[in-house]
Amino acid sequence: MGCAEASPDDPSSSGSPGRGSSTASVWRGRVVVAAVAAGAFAAAGQSLAAGEGHASPDHDDFNPSDASASLNSAMTEASYTGVGGSAPAPEVLPVARTSDLNAEMAKLVKGERIEQERIAAEEAARAPKFVLPTIGNFTSGFGGRWGTTHYGIDIANAKGTPIYSVADGVVIEAGPASGFGLWVRVQHEDGTITVYGHVNTITVDEGDKVKAGDQIATMGNRGFSTGPHLHFEVWNPSGKKINPLPWMRARGISPV
Ligand SMILES: [Zn+2]
Repeated sequence: MGCAEASPDDPSSSGSPGRGSSTASVWRGRVVVAAVAAGAFAAAGQSLAAGEGHASPDHDDFNPSDASASLNSAMTEASYTGVGGSAPAPEVLPVARTSDLNAEMAKLVKGERIEQERIAAEEAARAPKFVLPTIGNFTSGFGGRWGTTHYGIDIANAKGTPIYSVADGVVIEAGPASGFGLWVRVQHEDGTITVYGHVNTITVDEGDKVKAGDQIATMGNRGFSTGPHLHFEVWNPSGKKINPLPWMRARGISPV
């Protein structure tokens, strides 16, 4: 028996009040509810009477008891708080007008959506087809240099400077490459490949589709490099490394 749960009806249960006091409190609640309702009614009568210049209703008819004391107190409270007073009625629109408004709203929402789609289409049309691969100082061009051929251009800036894809395309390679340290290669729609070398970090994965201006890496100093810079190459669709500058200028971008 020691571990059995106490029955809810057991008045000796620790922590819960006996049945008698529960019942009393329920009744007290009901009396108060009734008293408040009665008080509101009485208060309404009271305001009416006061409006007509009569004296307040006489409360002496009540026999004092617990219940009537509550009633008196509720009535007093009701008359002070103005229960039954004249709050302004909320404005209600006629049903027909409301449905007209709904139709108007629907038209506006639809129009707004069409307008947003038009703006998005215009923005897509205006989106740059070609952007510079990074910001910095043009430090070296394409061609012979130090007895060898430099197959790209160099743009120098602080390590960590963002590097962007110059056009829409697909990342076909992103990782280590001899001499380049780390590189990213992006293939574009016409088969041209752009190459981004000496990067410090790569922010895309092979196979990613990128848009012109999407960041693909950060500038670094890896591989055969004498300071943080981007080595940028353009391979034409037949795989030949071409001078990036005329290619870029023909597309409206130039680092110099
Ligand atoms: Zn270079």
